[in-house]
Amino acid sequence: MKKTVKDIKVNGKRVLLRADCNVPIEEGKVTDDTRIRETLPTIEYLREQGARTIICSHLGRPEGKVVEALRLDPVARRLSHHLGTQVRKVDHVVGREATEVVETLEDGDVLLLENTRFHPGETENAEVLARKLASLADVYVNDAFAAAHRAHASTKGVAALLPAVAGLLMTREIQTLDKVLHEPKRPLVTLFGGAKVADKIEVMESFLHTLQADVLLVGGGMANTLLEAKGLDIGDSLWEEDHLQTVQTILDRAGSGLILPVDVTVAERFDEDSESRTVDVDAVPKGWHIMDVGPKTVQLFQDKLRWAKMVVWNGPLGVSEMEPFARGTLAVARTLAETDAQTFVGGGDSAAAIAAAGVSDKITHISTGGGAFLEFLSGKELPGITALADL
Ligand code: ADP
Ligand code: MG
Repeated sequence: MKKTVKDIKVNGKRVLLRADCNVPIEEGKVTDDTRIRETLPTIEYLREQGARTIICSHLGRPEGKVVEALRLDPVARRLSHHLGTQVRKVDHVVGREATEVVETLEDGDVLLLENTRFHPGETENAEVLARKLASLADVYVNDAFAAAHRAHASTKGVAALLPAVAGLLMTREIQTLDKVLHEPKRPLVTLFGGAKVADKIEVMESFLHTLQADVLLVGGGMANTLLEAKGLDIGDSLWEEDHLQTVQTILDRAGSGLILPVDVTVAERFDEDSESRTVDVDAVPKGWHIMDVGPKTVQLFQDKLRWAKMVVWNGPLGVSEMEPFARGTLAVARTLAETDAQTFVGGGDSAAAIAAAGVSDKITHISTGGGAFLEFLSGKELPGITALADL
């Protein structure tokens, strides 16, 4: 058990809060503020307690340089709106200006620092940045579960230099996902899709062997590499050659627990307006692309999902951002909403599909993490969590 913000005194203290404000921004406006809203309870708690809250977060991948489009000003505006108070913002991650503004904070005030990844020391977990961040505060609170799998200066480095505890969102994520890891309900059915085979292959392995999932359903771009490894002709579909060997191992070891698409929707071009049709998985036309799972596959997956007592899902079953190829993903999202099983969903695109299906409130837990969700459930230690004090 990790110490939480409720286990320490924060009144009158300067609290450095690592939040996850990595939200989509278009033309200076936040287009989906889910992650900001998820961290509000922690900020509100700190304000009620009379802390002086200094928030830091990364946004996108500016790679150690200032990128104008990735400044956190739109985030400060969203935070101000939700908190009903002016959240101040400085234009640097650390340094003189930040230090000076922190000195003027009063109890209950909230300040937002600039995008941590503007500083080259962030992703390298540089001691110099960790020290500067630590010098701004008396206490460190980490609420950024979605960044907890990264050993960065604002997640790991600074935690070693200040009393470090978990925020309320972080605590909820840990407690909920711990139950999946240590008290899985059976049948346990896991559903994988999306594109990043490299990121997910290890997790699939651990689901099969550590969590001993009863069934592993695979769709989306992930499935393509597995189909290719089985020797099927997948046309010009997206797949990852580098991972053929690993995938082969999974195929060999998984046996009948691993279920792949039996039919697919294929398109002539990788395009929303392309001609498309549904074919059996062994009849993909030359040069065409697998874009979605077909209706027979949806049926097959739904039967398994209805049988499950616990479902873990990451990754869309098709190119769900293109409306004609979102069908399989949406159908499965609705099935998850209808079952009595406990349902756990992680990953940005998967959560977006759940929202698009209008069933967010019918899912047991939608994690704010993608990579962190998967790594946690594969039993790995997350550096951002390990760095926090134990109770
Ligand atoms: P999440 O954000 O839920 O973790 P990912 O980011 O891993 O999911 O995967 C989502 C991406 O996978 C989407 O951009 C989607 O277009 C892509 N994808 C899914 N199926 C296919 C496919 N058959 N071919 C190409 N891309 C696919
Ligand atoms: Mg994604």
